[in-house]
Amino acid sequence: MNLEAAIKDFHAHAEKVKMYNSAMAVMYFDAATVAPKGGIADRAKRSGFFAAQLFDLITGDKMKELLAALSPHEGRLDPITAGMYRMAKKNYDKHVKVPAAKFRAFRELVTKAQNVWEDARKDDDFAAFAPYLKDIIAASKEMVEYRRIDDAPAYDYLLDDYEEGMTMQIYDEYFGKVRDAIVPLLKGVVESTKKIDKSIVQKPVSIEAQRKIAHYIAGMIGYDHNRGYICESVHPFCNSSSRDDVRITTRYNENDFLSSLFTILHECGHAIYEQSTGDDIAQTMLSRGVSMGIHESQSRFYENVIGRSRGFWEFVTDELKTYLPDAYKDMTAEQFYEAANYAAPSLIRVEADELTYSLHIMIRYEIERMIFTQDIDVMDLPAIWNKKYEEYLGITPPNNRLGVLQDVHWSGGMFGYFPTYSLGSAYAAQFLAYMKRGLDFDGLVKKGEFAAITAWLTDKIHRHGSIYTPHDLVDKIAGEQLNADYYVSYLQEKFGGLYRIGM
Ligand SMILES: [Zn+2]
Repeated sequence: MNLEAAIKDFHAHAEKVKMYNSAMAVMYFDAATVAPKGGIADRAKRSGFFAAQLFDLITGDKMKELLAALSPHEGRLDPITAGMYRMAKKNYDKHVKVPAAKFRAFRELVTKAQNVWEDARKDDDFAAFAPYLKDIIAASKEMVEYRRIDDAPAYDYLLDDYEEGMTMQIYDEYFGKVRDAIVPLLKGVVESTKKIDKSIVQKPVSIEAQRKIAHYIAGMIGYDHNRGYICESVHPFCNSSSRDDVRITTRYNENDFLSSLFTILHECGHAIYEQSTGDDIAQTMLSRGVSMGIHESQSRFYENVIGRSRGFWEFVTDELKTYLPDAYKDMTAEQFYEAANYAAPSLIRVEADELTYSLHIMIRYEIERMIFTQDIDVMDLPAIWNKKYEEYLGITPPNNRLGVLQDVHWSGGMFGYFPTYSLGSAYAAQFLAYMKRGLDFDGLVKKGEFAAITAWLTDKIHRHGSIYTPHDLVDKIAGEQLNADYYVSYLQEKFGGLYRIGM
């Protein structure tokens, strides 16, 4: 096959992959929101069928043949084809080198383990989950050996699965800086005489009013309602079947309307990324955001960097009050700003505030690192976990339900996933610093001119989809890689000011 024909063939095959992915995204959204319970078995059969077809497209003989045809020309492909080749090759290698039977056994193990974990968490019974966790760790290590191409540590392979290019060496340096800066900063917050009263934003707001707020906030921040839809689900998420159909979900709590408001801003960050893909790649498999870390940087940018800024509340408070009950009529922008940034040590990651969030992630990273580099007994994990919470957050979980058993990830075999959550916050702060070199960020937010901010993010990040690796994408913006200094300074400045530390 000559190169031109191979490229044409490859694009046609990749389009099929995209079609299956799009159809499956719509099915997933349907299942997670409005689909009737009675149809579960039927839907499982249908999604299993499509998943098998898709698996064949990305790992079958046709893909093998196409990758082999393009391989000798790798350095000379146009950027779009090169990006598609990179993605397809990584996916192919990851799935093909592990024997199918091993892969199936692993899926079965984690399916079972997730059920066991759910009960173990409910019953606060770590011992019931421990043997499964032990097997999952062993299987994860074994699967890495099948696809090993160098002598990098096994955990590096897993880190790379969730964020291309990431290694323990990079994360060690990153979390080292986070630990050195945030642990003392949190201590300062705890000891500060400045207290923030969160209860002033917990007066009831009807669900009906909150739905209107969600619609208003999303549109105002730049989410295109004409190419999107807001729905409700137990766990909020963003669902993209194409650039022109990007849906988000939230959940409402009458006594905590800010929770949904920030969820909307978070999911809008993911959605605006997906809605802003460039014309040149919109119809290709590169149209999705490049990685978990970069995706999360966009959601955190809209949720925290914009949404939890003083300027945002100065802009939004008057308009927001038109949707809120009378109980809120005397609230000032400053009061909203402070309440939105209440920070304190807590046990549960998903409820953590902006300041402490990365400490929760750091603990999980340190433990995963131990699991994969030292020979530790899984039965020791609860004690290790609790000790780290005491050391970094100054609190000890009273039981394993609020400790080592709280997250679903390990029962699903997702080792290496957690650090990407923290990367999102760090990249968001890094992008803010770059943006401020050319834009009056604070001034724009105060005036509600979010379009100029989104235009910057679209130009530097959104429009490129997955053409570049996360490293190359960040490098293209300002000629450097992940740098925790930006994130650390951002938190020190913000929370130091809010809690009057060192003043
Ligand atoms: Zn997210």
